Amino acid sequence: MRQRLEYEELDRIDPLARFRREFILPDGLVYLDGNSLGAPPRGARERILKLLDEEWGRDLVQSWNRHDWIGLPQKVGAAIAPLIGAGRDEVIAADSTSVNLFKLLIAALRLRSSRRSIIALAGDFPTDLYIAQGVAESNSDLKLRIVEKEELETVVDAGTAVVMMNHVNFRTGAINDMAGVTALAHRHGALVIWDLCHSAGVMPVELNVCHVDFAVGCGYKYLNGGPGAPAFLFAARQHHDAIHPLISGWMGHAEPFEFDSRYRPAAGVRRNLSGTPPILSLAALDAALELFKHADMHLVREKSMRLGDAFIELTAPLRDEFGFGLISPADAHRRGSQVALTHPEGFAIMQALIARGVVGDFRAPDILRFGFSPLYNRYAEVWDAARRLEEIMRQREWARPEFNLQRAVT
Ligand SMILES: *Cc1c(COP(=O)(O)O)cnc(C)c1O
Repeated sequence: MRQRLEYEELDRIDPLARFRREFILPDGLVYLDGNSLGAPPRGARERILKLLDEEWGRDLVQSWNRHDWIGLPQKVGAAIAPLIGAGRDEVIAADSTSVNLFKLLIAALRLRSSRRSIIALAGDFPTDLYIAQGVAESNSDLKLRIVEKEELETVVDAGTAVVMMNHVNFRTGAINDMAGVTALAHRHGALVIWDLCHSAGVMPVELNVCHVDFAVGCGYKYLNGGPGAPAFLFAARQHHDAIHPLISGWMGHAEPFEFDSRYRPAAGVRRNLSGTPPILSLAALDAALELFKHADMHLVREKSMRLGDAFIELTAPLRDEFGFGLISPADAHRRGSQVALTHPEGFAIMQALIARGVVGDFRAPDILRFGFSPLYNRYAEVWDAARRLEEIMRQREWARPEFNLQRAVT
């Protein structure tokens, strides 16, 4: 095994090293689960305390104007926009990824009302597929086809209303071809919805360069907005005025405070809002996004690829010796910011790792996921993770009964 010193040296010259101080992380913990829940930025803590004391706690309802709470969904959307290659007026923070996907799926179907089929990708995150199933079942004219990547070329046709797909696969970390699939859909007159949950904030995304119609993503993974942080949605400017929101709530009304009884959608992306925004959560996400104003996304991507490569290299001998599979692409250019291993005892191995202070996660039936957040993870931590994995395997620590109890959230 290579020496830890080599990785300490990479940390010493890392241009992103200073960001680590901006996060609250327990000493000695190797946190490789930012692809499930990002670590808390110090700024988010300060912002929430300030909001409680000086906004909600002092100015109460006047804060909607005085502290521009009402503008937060747009402000947060505008801060996410440059990370995903969108215009600042094309993104808004709202709801959860699941709900935003529902809203945009309906919007897309209404924009292609003469077409009947929704195409989704097998192996995508289950909630995306569940939402598609729910929408398809709501109207017997609609047909949902869940297909393999290789089938797309033959399946997308003149009856396709919308193609929906995850940008990075949540199990394997494989990157899907945004430009290629979008162009394929457009050649047949269909629209696309991309889910950026595993790419926003950790690699450059080029929605407008790829001519994407719609996208969704979440605020609590690589964007570090906190548990259940508001998600975001992107709608390309050309579609703004044509969208007829199904969830036609007052926050998406042209003039919510006229209390008019008739629904009239707001101009622009704001019509995709539904109800009152969750200000505490939005404020935390807003504060978390401050960090990205100072982080070059190309440096973030480069470090992300190197962290993943280091983990793959360091675990190679273990994989051979102890029978792990590698299901992530070995080529960093085809991989998002996680490395996924498989092992029949994956659940217990992950529990044993967590007990030793290396937090990744387990995905049924046999996947161990290790996510790399370049703003706070260090190269030396990758070495530590590989070393502790080796110890657990060598000493069969995972076989202990306490590591074999199932919990509700994995
Ligand atoms: C994490 C994730 C979600 C989560 O959706 P929520 O509605 O926020 O719970 C959806 N899609 C993908 C691809 C994800 O990775």
